[in-house]
Amino acid sequence: MLLSQQKPLEEILGFLEREKNIFIFGCNGCAEASGTGGKPQVLEMKEALEKAGKKVTGFSVVDFLCQKALVQSRLRGKTKELKAADSILAMTCGVGVQAVAAVSNKITHPACNTLPLGGMRGEWQGSERCQECGDCVLDMTGGICPLTACSKFLLNGACGGTTKEGKCEVDQEMECGWRLIYERLEKLGQVEKLRQVYDPKDHSKMMPPKGLRLSERWALEQGK
Ligand code: SF4
Ligand code: SF4
Repeated sequence: MLLSQQKPLEEILGFLEREKNIFIFGCNGCAEASGTGGKPQVLEMKEALEKAGKKVTGFSVVDFLCQKALVQSRLRGKTKELKAADSILAMTCGVGVQAVAAVSNKITHPACNTLPLGGMRGEWQGSERCQECGDCVLDMTGGICPLTACSKFLLNGACGGTTKEGKCEVDQEMECGWRLIYERLEKLGQVEKLRQVYDPKDHSKMMPPKGLRLSERWALEQGK
């Protein structure tokens, strides 16, 4: 289970500033359990976007947005609505946002932050990974996570060691994550997003939230 929390509406509207027509994806997996991406939240978001002057061309709530084959099968049934959309808003964890971005060829914005729980959990995922950093930056990186796609967790572009073949200098079996981000942004016509400079990550957001640390379940796991 990946725990997500909806980003403030102002931040989401900021992502959508230059776009009018939006398609919304929700997730019936962890996001529904987190209360961030099930059908009720998708309908609330649709209303909020419409109030803000956006047109919602359609929406879909998929069982597991982290599963690219499932997302692809839903995309097929929504071709018209997706074609009419300037971008997609994905109401789910970082893995789900990356999966939608990978298969849709559309600008995909994250509606949520994925919160750290600590430890490993069973997840059905492909090549997409999320470090649960608590402050999702996928909007700026074409839906590829720099914290998991780059061996050095760099936030502001490539380290300079990328090989001529576009592999990572740390592990040449691996594609350079920042090359992949550049290529994705280029394909989406968003290379100018690379001009934004990020402050270092706030590591306090990478700790499990205080409320969770106080829960009975947490205490049991800690043997307290
Ligand atoms: S930026 Fe990466 S690690 Fe952080 S929430 Fe998004 S996908 Fe997860
Ligand atoms: S080569 Fe690319 S993926 Fe590897 S550490 Fe440098 S920027 Fe990150």
